[in-house]
This record gives sequence, C-alpha cells and structure tokens, in this order.
Amino acid sequence: MDDVLVERMRGFGTTVFAEMTALAVRTGSINLGQGFPDTDGPPAMLRRAADAIAHGHNQYPPGPGLPELRQAVAAHHQDHYGLSYDPGAEVLVTVGATEAIAATVLALCEPGDEVIVFEPYYDSYAAAITLAGAVRRTVTLRPDGGRFAFDPTELRAAVTPRTRAVLVNSPHNPTGTVFTGEELAAIAALCQERDLVAITDEVYEHLTFDGVPHVPLATLPGMRERTVMISSAGKTFSVTGWKTGWICAPARYVRAVQTVKQFLTFTAAAPWQLAVAYALREELGWVAGLRESLAAKRDRLAGGLAAAGFGVYRPAGTYFVQADIRPLGFTDGAELARRLPELAGVVAVPTQVFYDHPEAGRSFVRFAFCKRDEVIDEAVGRLAGLRATPTG
Ligand SMILES: *Cc1c(COP(=O)(O)O)cnc(C)c1O
Repeated sequence: MDDVLVERMRGFGTTVFAEMTALAVRTGSINLGQGFPDTDGPPAMLRRAADAIAHGHNQYPPGPGLPELRQAVAAHHQDHYGLSYDPGAEVLVTVGATEAIAATVLALCEPGDEVIVFEPYYDSYAAAITLAGAVRRTVTLRPDGGRFAFDPTELRAAVTPRTRAVLVNSPHNPTGTVFTGEELAAIAALCQERDLVAITDEVYEHLTFDGVPHVPLATLPGMRERTVMISSAGKTFSVTGWKTGWICAPARYVRAVQTVKQFLTFTAAAPWQLAVAYALREELGWVAGLRESLAAKRDRLAGGLAAAGFGVYRPAGTYFVQADIRPLGFTDGAELARRLPELAGVVAVPTQVFYDHPEAGRSFVRFAFCKRDEVIDEAVGRLAGLRATPTG
C-alpha cells in the first residue's frame, strides 16, 4: 500500500482513533477513546433533515452553502460574539471542520510556508499542512497548574520569516484547555506584529464548563481582519456524522478558501444544511442542556479516574479528560493504551500520538466523557481494579 502512496503522506497511516475503536470492538471493551457522543442531537433538528430529504432538497446547493445556513451562522456570531459577518460574502459552508481546515491551509499556504500548531494537536492539522507542501512548527502545551498551557516565549521563538499562519484550537482537543484572555492576547499580538493569519478551530465553542466563556480570537482588537474562524455542527449538536461546518472570515479569505473548496467537494449536503440552520436559530437551549450534562459527565469521569488512582486534569471545555498514569506505576501511555482492554476492558487514546515530540505526552492517556452515564460508571468501575495490577 505504502509504495503507491505519495511520499509526503506516508506516515499518515490509519489514525489512532480507528485503531483504538477496532481494538474496542475486537475485545468487547468500553470505548472511551474516540470522541463521539452515544446519544443523538435535538429531535426537531433530526426531523428537519428527514423532512428536507422528503421534500425535495436533494440536489446541489449553491457552492458557498444554502443562504438559510449562512444567514443563521452570521446571526449566531453576531448574537454570541458581537462579530458581524456578511452572509453573502464572509461565510462559507464546508464538509465539516475537517474540510474547512484543509481547504484553508491549501488556499493560504505556499509550499515551504510554515504553520504554527500547538501540540498535542488534532491529527488532521499535520496532514492538511503536509498536503499543502507547507511545514509545521509546533509549540508544546505542557501540564501547568492543573491545565495544559504554552510558554509565550516559545510561541514567539517559533515564528520565522516563512511563517504564514497560526492554527489555534480553543477549547482544545485533546487537553480540554480553554485559552485564557492572556494567552489569546499573546497569540493576537504576535499575529499582528508578524503579519500572520490565524486559523481558529472552534468546534467546541459551545462546550465550556463552570462558566468559563468561549472567546473567539477574532473578537480581539485587530484580529477579525486576519482570522479564519471555523465551526462545526458535529460537536455543538451531537451529530458528528453530519459533517457540516463553516468558516467566517473577511471576503478575500472566503474567496480564496472557496476557490479550493469547490474542487474538493464543490458544496456540502443540502438536508443537513437546512436542519443546522434551524438548530442554530432554535436549539441553543438544547445546547445549554448538553453543556450542563457534559459538565456533570466530566465530573463523573474525573472523579472515577481519580478514585482509580490516575492523576486527573479536569478540563474547562471539550469532551476529554487527560489522565496521568504515573501515580498508578505506569510510564508509557501507548503501552498502557494497548494493554488497557485486557487489564480493564476499557479503551483510551495515548496522548503522545498527538505530538511531534511524544516525550511531552508520554505519561498521559485521553478519556472521552461524551457517553451515557451508565457507560462512564461501568468504565470507571472496571478501571478501579487497575491499582491491584502489577505494573512490571
Ligand atoms: C471533531 C473535531 C474536528 C472535526 O470536525 P468535523 O466537523 O467532524 O469535520 C475538528 N477539530 C477538532 C479539534 C475536533 O475535535
């Protein structure tokens, strides 16, 4: 297989999520590896999609997306963030955040341009940058006072004359970190000083806890004009299988990204666009309920993991808890993740796979808590037996 794959994409074999999900199925383990919810989105939104299919919304929508969805996105960003985007020229619907990220990087980066990413990073970033022939520069998030944080000096040092963009993901997968105002300000200052584009992956924009607000980088002074802001319905409305996302950016960026996007997929599926347009306008109350429920699930999983002996990092947002395995006598997360099905009948993802410098994440595994309470309870019950395991 590898001999026919272009050279630059070797090394991007099967994603760890597919591997761990297959392991869970094969061993009958509880899968807290992959971050997808095991319950559905708002019922009225699901009906809208079915109605759209039944009522003839089955042909190509316009390339930039259906006006209903672009208008709903613009209204949402105005209401929530005070950001105004022209739905006719500054909003583009994509096939999930994944296509938005890939099309943006392909549209804005010349071969050899550098893109800064914070590691651990979502796996599609590295692949998108490589597809573009661009080069990634990583800035490491490290455990610091119960959360994962970066050193602004390291960020500054990562910028070179070839740096084109910074890819920012807050709330952050896989650490659950929500960047503070200070951290966002450091990124914004650097973007302006060095004339960089900010590409912001905000798929967890609605999933922050304990009253921690989500602050889009584009709301900081001087940033709207240089930010491509990316969202998705997948996480917000618990429909990760719908692959419906969007970007908001100044018109010249949207035109550039659309130029690439039209030859990747041309447009995104019509029924989901109509349903998501409805949900953005009418179902944010449901999303508030989801947020509450996820905060309780976080506490349920974090409490259970702590009781089982893990060192637990309680996230401020997302679906994920980082667990330090050293208090249990283990040292390597990849090795533990491979053995965990046999030791405890649970699947987690080793955090080190999200790094270019895996050492920084070696002693961590990631557990997802976007699961039914009884699934979380069963998993932590099983993990409670780990302490008795000889770690040899
Ligand atoms: C889930 C996820 C995505 C992918 O979103 P889609 O809309 O399914 O393409 C992108 N970025 C992060 C950080 C994610 O967790």
